[in-house]
Amino acid sequence: MILFNVPTTTGNESIYINEAIKEGHLSGDGKFTKLCNGWFEDKFDVQKSLLTTSCTHALEMSAILADIKEGDEVIMPSYTFVSTANAFVLRGARIVFVDIRPDTMNIDESLIEEAITSKTKAIVPVHYAGVACDMDKILEIANKHNIVVIEDAAQGVMSQYKGRYLGTIGHIGCYSFHETKNYNSGEGGAILVNHESYVERAEIIREKGTNRSRFFRGQVDKYTWVDLGSSYLPSEINAAFLYAQLEQAEEINNNRMQSWNRYHIGLADLEKRGYVQLPTIPNECSHNAHMYYLKCRSLDERTRLIQFLKERGVQSVFHYIPLHSSNAGKQFGRFNGKDNYTTIESEKLLRLPLYYNFANDDLDKVVDSIYKFYI
Ligand SMILES: *Cc1c(COP(=O)(O)O)cnc(C)c1O
Repeated sequence: MILFNVPTTTGNESIYINEAIKEGHLSGDGKFTKLCNGWFEDKFDVQKSLLTTSCTHALEMSAILADIKEGDEVIMPSYTFVSTANAFVLRGARIVFVDIRPDTMNIDESLIEEAITSKTKAIVPVHYAGVACDMDKILEIANKHNIVVIEDAAQGVMSQYKGRYLGTIGHIGCYSFHETKNYNSGEGGAILVNHESYVERAEIIREKGTNRSRFFRGQVDKYTWVDLGSSYLPSEINAAFLYAQLEQAEEINNNRMQSWNRYHIGLADLEKRGYVQLPTIPNECSHNAHMYYLKCRSLDERTRLIQFLKERGVQSVFHYIPLHSSNAGKQFGRFNGKDNYTTIESEKLLRLPLYYNFANDDLDKVVDSIYKFYI
């Protein structure tokens, strides 16, 4: 059986976890959490990185930081994971869904401005498959209307847009270290705070609404409840696990990229003959090989291809029933303008197996099976 995903491990995870145990500090913000945050701050040149328990929680923190209140509107694509929307709905926002571009499956930047109303408080670009949205255009619109930009870069760790790391370009960025992502701690995430004005409040929200971080730095002589907050910090065990992977981030990235390119070359002829469509990477983007997908010509064809692959021992998956067509999506949001691409393109997309150290023999078998289906 060729599995769709195998969580990344480097071999050093258990060594670092044992080190954390020996340190005798297992709750959050110990040595390994600091190492991880420092890694992002140095390598990605970001103001402040704070590990969180998930990307979902990083998004929830962002909604609090952006001061989202009852009746505010937040713009995002409908083709995304539920947490992108839920984090804002939890604070009382209404979601305004905007159509995607068929080439990258990212929010269509040319449709954002017409979705803005006097209630719009935030835009949440989702970098699908680790391929960047048009951030220049999105930031230009946001600045013009004084709106916060929160990047859902759950899939985009190590990807770049015009030489800048995803998650460091908007006001706030959110990462996921779920086991299905490129770097993982089982469950985990991070919030990147790219504006000085948000830093102190982000620390407070993450520490149950207290100024505990300032207390530990000796900036106040006792700590107390000062704001909204929750417990968004992961334990040192998770941070130790993650650090073992960050240390080898380049190696993991190169390894995945090799598989991605092998799929892309292997399937090129099928695309040329018009059977499938392969991913497009815009010139200004360098991606992280988070995902390899192809697009079939119809939903029915995709269903048959999944079954065909399954019979040959290959696991393939689709995802994201567009949020605006779900029950909760209808209740908490609206689709602005016409759904030209979101539904139809999501029905054609199929994700192929791709993970760290995916064997070339297995990859070739997947490619072969897809050729057999079509030809
Ligand atoms: C994985 C993912 C999330 C959620 O990440 P968790 O760490 O599991 O909470 C959010 N948004 C997108 C686009 C994702 O792919």
